[in-house]
Amino acid sequence: MNLADLNKILKSEPAYRQKQIEKLVYRDLIENWREAKILPLALREKLDKECPLSINNKIIISDDKKTAKALIILDDNLKIESVLMRYGNSNRNTVCVSSQVGCPLGCKFCATGKIGFKRNLEPMEIIEQVLLFARYLKKEKAKITNIVFMGMGEPFLNYENVFEAIKILNDKDCFGLGARHISISTIGITEGIEKMAEEKLQINLAVSLHSVDNESRSKIIPANKKYPIEKIFKAIENYLKKTKRRVMVEYMMMDKVNDSIQDAEKLAKLITQKHLYLVNLILYNPTGIFKPSSKERIKKFKEVLEKKGISATERYRFGKEIKAACGQLAGGVI
Ligand code: SAH
Ligand code: SF4
Repeated sequence: MNLADLNKILKSEPAYRQKQIEKLVYRDLIENWREAKILPLALREKLDKECPLSINNKIIISDDKKTAKALIILDDNLKIESVLMRYGNSNRNTVCVSSQVGCPLGCKFCATGKIGFKRNLEPMEIIEQVLLFARYLKKEKAKITNIVFMGMGEPFLNYENVFEAIKILNDKDCFGLGARHISISTIGITEGIEKMAEEKLQINLAVSLHSVDNESRSKIIPANKKYPIEKIFKAIENYLKKTKRRVMVEYMMMDKVNDSIQDAEKLAKLITQKHLYLVNLILYNPTGIFKPSSKERIKKFKEVLEKKGISATERYRFGKEIKAACGQLAGGVI
């Protein structure tokens, strides 16, 4: 798909064409300009040649049909992955999108980190992931209800492109998804948290903490040296002051690495404005090292937080068998 040049082509067209085309692409979800009967033939042919709508992809579906993983081959042949998660009894359909090809931060537990960094994604390459699943769901008369930036890459290291994509996804004339249904997860890039605190859009912030002391956090998250825990919480507190919006703290449960009662107590101490935080306990998806925490240890950890008045939830695990779960996306490389 290449819509980047669309505006250039439309320059010589009347203004209403822009609106027509936005509706065709983002609402009607056409997959080919041939379907755009409303446009003059000459324009359709030009668009077909210069702004193709096709997306080079392969989708695999989990046995329980709840997870679909897409491998998308970009114009320069690099590969990214995105995941669709379908929450059975509700109508919730969440797309987990990538923001970079690979990731430069090399967290020890993450498959994306292992492949290193190739490049940032362009806004249209981010949008393309959403459109692919929107087209897929349309065939079943279903819709995307949520978008999370929890795929490959660190969204705050590609801030401008991520926000440009979000603006189009949120725009009522384009994809039209409410800002409150869009979330960004960061490993704790404080410049990004500070910038997001100034944004007008009410999108959600999630921070991957995973450890409560700097020494052990640095061992699994090399970026902790530049962005230690106090610095991250200072940025979050500033974000809370400015936005009054609840922040999610993501905490991945790794057996005897970060899941003791003492760890839970330390975490509770870090959280001062309890009503403005939600702790999301993530089961560690094996990617080589470490083991996931036992159910018993997770339960105890959660109890400590709840006793201190902190809301905590456990993240449902999608798509482990098709390597579509958190931290398992490697663009088919691993
Ligand atoms: N770079 C961002 C967003 C992508 S990762 C970030 O790190 O937040 C999305 C989430 O998956 C993060 O919380 C990340 O820490 C988590 N994750 C990474 N590897 C994982 C694994 N092996 N098992 C479970 N979660 C993992
Ligand atoms: Fe990058 Fe996030 Fe994976 Fe760390 S966890 S390597 S920041 S994608």
